[in-house]
Amino acid sequence: MIMSKTTKKVKRIRIDTDKCNGCRSCEVICSSFHAQEKYSINNPARARIRMVMDPLNDVYLPVYAGEYTPAECMGRDKYVVDGKEYEECAFCRASCPSRDAFKEPDSGLPLKCDMCEELEDDEEPLCVKWCINDALTYEEREEEVDEEEETKVEEMEDGLKTLRDKFGLENLMDGVARLSKKE
Ligand code: SF4
Ligand code: SF4
Repeated sequence: MIMSKTTKKVKRIRIDTDKCNGCRSCEVICSSFHAQEKYSINNPARARIRMVMDPLNDVYLPVYAGEYTPAECMGRDKYVVDGKEYEECAFCRASCPSRDAFKEPDSGLPLKCDMCEELEDDEEPLCVKWCINDALTYEEREEEVDEEEETKVEEMEDGLKTLRDKFGLENLMDGVARLSKKE
C-alpha cells in the first residue's frame, strides 16, 4: 500500500547558552502567561522552562519541559560542564515521579512546554520574545509525514480540545494522571 504524504510544521527553539545570563525572564513570562487567569501570577515554579545555573562559573542553561512520564527511567544522566558536575537528571525534560521539576506546585500535575500554542500563528513564543539577550531563537520548518498518521494525531488533538473545553484543563490533566497511574 502506498502511503500518501503531507507536511506538518515543526517548531523549534534554538538555545544559545553563551548568550544566556540567567535573568529568568523566560520563566517569569511563561508562568504568567499560563496562569489559570492569564498574567495573574508570576511564579517560576509553574514555568515550562527552568534555568539550571552555576553563577560562580557564569554557566546558565535553560531546559524546556518535555513529556510526562508515569515511571522513573532505569538510567541516570550526569553532566559535567566546565568542570562542574550537575546533579543527576538536571537536564532531563521529563515531568517524572522522582523529582518536583516541571510539576504544578499545588496539584503536582505535569507541566509541558506547548510552544505558547494559544498565541496567533505569526507570534513567537513568549520566552523567545522576552529574552532580551537573544539566547532563544524561534525556528520553523516543514516536515513530510504520513497523511494517515497526521490525521490520527489531529483527530486526537481535536478530541482533547473538546474534553478540555468541557471539563477544564486541570480536570482533564488530573484524569490523565490518574489513568496513567493505573496502567
Ligand atoms: S514556548 Fe511558551 S510554553 Fe514553552 S517555555 Fe516558552 S513561554 Fe513557556
Ligand atoms: S530570558 Fe534569555 S537570558 Fe534570560 S534566563 Fe531566559 S534564556 Fe537566559
